[in-house]
Amino acid sequence: MNIKSEVTALTESLVAVRRDFHMHPEIAFEEVRTSGIIATHLENLGLTVQRNIGKTGLVADLYGGKAGKTVLIRADIDALPFSEQTGAEYASTKAGAMHACGHDGHASIAMHVASIFAKHQAELEGNFRFVFQPAEEIVSGASAMLQDKPDLLEGVDAVVGLHLWNDHPVGWVGARVGASFASADAFSVFIQGKGGHAAAPHQCVDPIVIGSQLVLALQTIVSRETDPQFPSVVSVCTIVAGEGAYNIIPDSIELRCTLRTFDSELRSKLQARIETLCTSTAIAFGGSARVQWMSGVPPVVNDTDFTERFIKTALEIVPEVHTPNPTMGGDDVAEFLARVPGVYFLVGSGQGYPHHHPKFDIDDKGCLPLATELLASAALEFARG
Ligand SMILES: [Zn+2]
Ligand SMILES: [Zn+2]
Repeated sequence: MNIKSEVTALTESLVAVRRDFHMHPEIAFEEVRTSGIIATHLENLGLTVQRNIGKTGLVADLYGGKAGKTVLIRADIDALPFSEQTGAEYASTKAGAMHACGHDGHASIAMHVASIFAKHQAELEGNFRFVFQPAEEIVSGASAMLQDKPDLLEGVDAVVGLHLWNDHPVGWVGARVGASFASADAFSVFIQGKGGHAAAPHQCVDPIVIGSQLVLALQTIVSRETDPQFPSVVSVCTIVAGEGAYNIIPDSIELRCTLRTFDSELRSKLQARIETLCTSTAIAFGGSARVQWMSGVPPVVNDTDFTERFIKTALEIVPEVHTPNPTMGGDDVAEFLARVPGVYFLVGSGQGYPHHHPKFDIDDKGCLPLATELLASAALEFARG
């Protein structure tokens, strides 16, 4: 099987499928049309598809004719909740929804890898588990799939996936050993004081004063307690306090925050420190505080061996594989990579606008064939005994 010529023959279809998804974007856990089309495609290839895994996710196994390892191929399929401004002929037909991260491309790429593998099933070594994952943008789809199907990773020897990457032009390929995407945790700090008249603060416990201490104190967890060689971020992004009055001290307030790191151990340490700092600071000022973790994802950590094997495979396709800087963004492929070793690599798709921008677009004719060739080649390599 010559993967390059197989992919070349599918280029038109790769682009057409991606543009169809682009015109009909569906946000997290609403990917009903998208997963329906993918499921039909896989069933037409002869695969048995498990639908509604993690609400709108799909799982389909393809068994090669020869013995080998089992490789999980992951593609995320969700769009973002804002309106498109590209003016492209294939622009979103839905107000308030847009594929502005390239997941329309990811879905098309993995579907066409399945097409190629199904055509050559008998000669393939190993087995391939295709996972089409919903709700990456709210970092919830991977854990929803794992919850619905606890044996999703059973017998899987390697995980492989990719993200199209608009920071770089078509032809650019990147993969790094170790942490590639940060952990991302959203948390709320609920601060309970005692409300009352602003002119009688001594009769109150002012939760705004406690919250103000915390906004600054939380920064010292990063600046004073974390080894500067291990990057982390704590940001307070929303303060919910009061109802607009000039003379009322509120009873309680809420801080909405995010935590990012590149290391699972550091992540747990910082989570514990945030809780201690918030609860004890509130007590020190006469109130109380509770920290609630809303959603979270571990860092994306690429396995050394599989990353090196990926780079070696990719170098037969492109002249260079770059080592990108880790990104502070999160990706919940991390839930799979935290349990089974593998690699999540980046493929340049550059069209000028960054991810999550209303004018985001990818050079689909350029990046989709290359990404498909890379994903198929890496999966075949990892499946070899
Ligand atoms: Zn995104
Ligand atoms: Zn994305």
